[in-house]
Amino acid sequence: MNRKLIAGNWKMNGLRVDLQTVREIAAGLAASTAAPEALLCVPATLLAEAARQASGTALCIGGQTCHSQEKGAYTGDVSAPMLKEAGAGFVITGHSERRTGHGETDEIVAAQARAAVNAGLTPIICVGETLDERTSGATLKVIEGQLTGSLDGLEPNSFVLAYEPLWAIGTGKVATPAQIAEVHAFIRQFLEQRFGKPGQTVKILYGGSLNPGNAAEILPISNVDGGLIGGASLKAGDFLAIYNAAAALTV
Ligand code: PEP
Repeated sequence: MNRKLIAGNWKMNGLRVDLQTVREIAAGLAASTAAPEALLCVPATLLAEAARQASGTALCIGGQTCHSQEKGAYTGDVSAPMLKEAGAGFVITGHSERRTGHGETDEIVAAQARAAVNAGLTPIICVGETLDERTSGATLKVIEGQLTGSLDGLEPNSFVLAYEPLWAIGTGKVATPAQIAEVHAFIRQFLEQRFGKPGQTVKILYGGSLNPGNAAEILPISNVDGGLIGGASLKAGDFLAIYNAAAALTV
């Protein structure tokens, strides 16, 4: 079985005072190598200090986006080598808030993911449908299109995927186990067709209002290899409760 990955996305939340949460999460993780992997994707301003405080623990630190270029005249952007140097091991790419709020297309997402891999980071590539797309029956077509474009030029063992239905992000609405199982199975099939056997072990995370109350139901679903967690990752107790729900599946 794939080791599960429990990843937090702090979005634009977190000041130095919140490094206490990083310390509490790091201190609450299991030491065993069979335990789930744990990751916090913090704002770029906190990355170096969060990585310093997590160093020597099982907690990994990541960024939330990166530019596709290594350096240059891109005011306000952060490159993958910068994140790496600051202590990141992962970076989220193609989060729906970047796709919709910053016009990031599948092509841009793929270029960012390739830049991340070239810098020694693991990109977590997000895909997901809107409510309109779901209600009109277009979910799998939309996911297929996003996967085709966003994985361009990537090797199967170099990235993680996250299925995040847009209507479930930050809304408290969670996809049903049947909806999650259907899309994750579809993504697995896509990966196997595209990459062959190595496609069987690419991690596929679920994201969308995952919390301590629903983690034990969602994380055991077939082809769910962990979670990408927004709101509930801001509180150490909630993040650790989700992590423990994943850990309970590995023993
Ligand atoms: C996210 O932003 O990736 C996310 C899943 O957020 P939330 O858990 O708050 O729905």
